[in-house]
Amino acid sequence: MKDNPMRIPVPDHIMEIDPYVPGKPIEELEREYGIRDSVKLASNENPMGASPLALAAIGEALGGLHRYPDGGCFTLRAALADHLGVDGEGIVLGNGSDEIIGMLATVLLVPGDRVVMPAPSFLMYDIMARGAGALVDAVPLDESLGIDLEEMARRVDDRTRIVFLCNPNNPTGSFYAHAAFEQFMQRIPDTVVVVVDEAYFEFVRDSRYQTAARLCLRYPNLVVLRTFSKAYGLAGLRVGYGVMHPEMTAVINRIRQPFNASVPAQAGAVAALGDTVFLQRSIAVVHEGIDALFAALDRMGIRYFPTQANFFLVDVGLPAAEVFEAMLKKGVIVRSMASYGYPHYIRINAGLPAENERFLQALGEVLA
Ligand SMILES: *Cc1c(COP(=O)(O)O)cnc(C)c1O
Repeated sequence: MKDNPMRIPVPDHIMEIDPYVPGKPIEELEREYGIRDSVKLASNENPMGASPLALAAIGEALGGLHRYPDGGCFTLRAALADHLGVDGEGIVLGNGSDEIIGMLATVLLVPGDRVVMPAPSFLMYDIMARGAGALVDAVPLDESLGIDLEEMARRVDDRTRIVFLCNPNNPTGSFYAHAAFEQFMQRIPDTVVVVVDEAYFEFVRDSRYQTAARLCLRYPNLVVLRTFSKAYGLAGLRVGYGVMHPEMTAVINRIRQPFNASVPAQAGAVAALGDTVFLQRSIAVVHEGIDALFAALDRMGIRYFPTQANFFLVDVGLPAAEVFEAMLKKGVIVRSMASYGYPHYIRINAGLPAENERFLQALGEVLA
């Protein structure tokens, strides 16, 4: 047992996992540094808040909190099926899409299995796979920081059970075209589950992009993940979902906690899905924010990477952890990419115009 002070035998594959470090919460920064009016651009949240219709629905749902939620999420699954044009039997709700990643690892992996994923990408794939005792094969991104689908397919062997893809990819904002994905699926054995995480689907502007969700009936080994945490502005509510073949939902439902989507989560998500006005406004604010930030960084001579998401990487040319600390002191929370293998990059998401200005001002001062 590695560095385990307890007498309780915890498996090595658990002790070898480093806990996920989330973006620093605003309250924590303000408590530690004694500052106010800070700005958080570190967790790709919606700077507009949440849909007022969702908040009203959550308020109304509070009267039903003494009852267990509908374990089958009937209304929300029907709304999602309608929204996506897929079969409601092929939808599983999660306490955030993080939980779906965990459930997939639980039902598909036994110790010694292999999982293929891009690197860097979303860390929960690695954590959940290793938590199930699997061996992770991390495939580096290509030179333009895109997922190397060719190489990912090549790495699949007869012990591979899951391939994770993230499109657009977090933390790079890069994407792959639908045509390339269809070719990729042709090359993957139907015994290997391909998980496509589309957490940032709503922000994509490139017409070569397309969701993989409509392929789930054709490929029983395909799972597509979505979330209400980003474009829908409901990160604190914890609701995400997976779209998949109904045979796969039946497998996941064997271990899913029956009440994993709370009463307010189900009500809020249904209302959020119906509030297209708020969603479109949120997407427009993000696009305007990204364009304004790119234009300003161009003027400042600071290098950044193109994105299809609501966040992007900035090459600050200095140790990212130091820039992160210096920005914190100015009340701006960004994400250091040092632990993702990019020692000189930070990641930020688009905020409101005033928040973007605060970021640019602080970055200019820190780099001066
Ligand atoms: C934010 C994010 C999620 C969403 O997680 P939730 O648990 O639904 O909040 C999933 N995947 C990626 C790549 C993300 O960046």
